[in-house]
Amino acid sequence: MKKLQSNDTGKAKLFEQKGLNSLTKNPVWLSIIVYTIIWVALIIAHLTFGSASSLNSVILYLFAMGFWTFFEYMAHRFLFHWINDTPKVQRFHYLIHGVHHEYPRDKERLIMPIAPGFILVIVLTTIFFIPFGSNAFIWMAGFINGWAIYVTIHYMVHTYQPIQSLKILWTHHAKHHYKAEDKAFGVSTPFWDKLFGTMPD
Ligand SMILES: [Zn+2]
Ligand SMILES: [Zn+2]
Repeated sequence: MKKLQSNDTGKAKLFEQKGLNSLTKNPVWLSIIVYTIIWVALIIAHLTFGSASSLNSVILYLFAMGFWTFFEYMAHRFLFHWINDTPKVQRFHYLIHGVHHEYPRDKERLIMPIAPGFILVIVLTTIFFIPFGSNAFIWMAGFINGWAIYVTIHYMVHTYQPIQSLKILWTHHAKHHYKAEDKAFGVSTPFWDKLFGTMPD
């Protein structure tokens, strides 16, 4: 695969304090190791505590992967792009997403840093306990698998030349970055953009 020529590899410093700033980014390999460990731990937790049959576990897992794409769309559209005149909201927007729009090629900011990511996994697993009980572990494992696919696509879109068969994903995300920030929120799939009327021209 051909890497993109990078002429905009700027990096942002989000906090003056060095310790705090290092929590906002980390090398990609570290994220892969940590999220893989979390995924394995969830599978073990499911095998130990889950009550669903093997077939139902697979179904839950696959549904959770699909649900991720909906979550990704909603979070990107309504949380990451939530912005108004309040300075605190503007700062929040910049911290969680604006920085990526300003420096789209900063590889260390293409994946959610492990510090907030770890907290998010705990919060979401707890929330998923409400509908799924002890099967929240396998649901969360599928959800993280969907998340991993999204991260891989997003990383490749920003660092490699398009793969012909998946070119639509490159074009779709490029339109979000460089044409219309209020359109094309889906990265893994344009499906939700079609459904909710945010397809770019
Ligand atoms: Zn965006
Ligand atoms: Zn992007």
